[in-house]
Amino acid sequence: MKIAIMGAMPEEISPILEKLGSYKTTQYAGNKYYESTYRGVDLVVAYSKIGKVFSTLTATTMIEHFGADRLLFSGVAGAISPTLKVGDLIVATKLSQHDLDITAFGHPYGYVPEGAVFVEADKEMIEMSKKVASEMGKSVQEGIIATGDQFVANEERKNWIGKTFGADALEMEGGSVAVVCSALNIPFFILRAISDAADMDASFSFDEFLESSAKESAEFIMKMVQSIIENAK
Ligand code: SAH
Repeated sequence: MKIAIMGAMPEEISPILEKLGSYKTTQYAGNKYYESTYRGVDLVVAYSKIGKVFSTLTATTMIEHFGADRLLFSGVAGAISPTLKVGDLIVATKLSQHDLDITAFGHPYGYVPEGAVFVEADKEMIEMSKKVASEMGKSVQEGIIATGDQFVANEERKNWIGKTFGADALEMEGGSVAVVCSALNIPFFILRAISDAADMDASFSFDEFLESSAKESAEFIMKMVQSIIENAK
């Protein structure tokens, strides 16, 4: 077993690297990849940089180059659902690309021929996350995450994404990571802690809460990793 843990920004993976303590750093395809062992299991950790393209490159690299056989994403997101507040955790049940648009040909938003509007995350890890949440005494919401190459700081755009995809949160990497993992048959789990409400105050909220929310997410991800390892024994 080799578990990939990825984020998009340094702040999203630094709490994980801190917890691991020692690791081997490899420079590859313009990014750094950190390899370590945790409770006897191999891990590869990296942040991709922001957006669908970089996250695609990193997810693919972790699987194809470093040999990861499952992938967990830890990071922050903008809330769409009014029940999600800053610091709250959301587990993606399925993900879509909100900025993928060939509707001019009669296709729905987010769809490409031979693809699908939504990619579903691994059900076993979602089930496991419920147990982990209750052990930690945390409430974790499940929901749909919409991904696009835009920092959404606009109520109108956010509401459109919510309505069109039934999405509860939005961010910039989950949907592309989902496509990669699904194409390569790698079970994946996407967790986000809310940093902002994707409204006109989003950039201020993001700057204020990035670090604390990223930590919330990372802490949960490490408990998930523990649980995966224990279950495999
Ligand atoms: N402050 C950064 C840019 C952050 S972009 C800089 O200046 O370099 C936002 C990042 O957090 C992305 O990785 C995305 O996945 C997530 N995110 C959080 N809130 C978001 C929002 N409202 N819209 C889109 N992505 C958001």
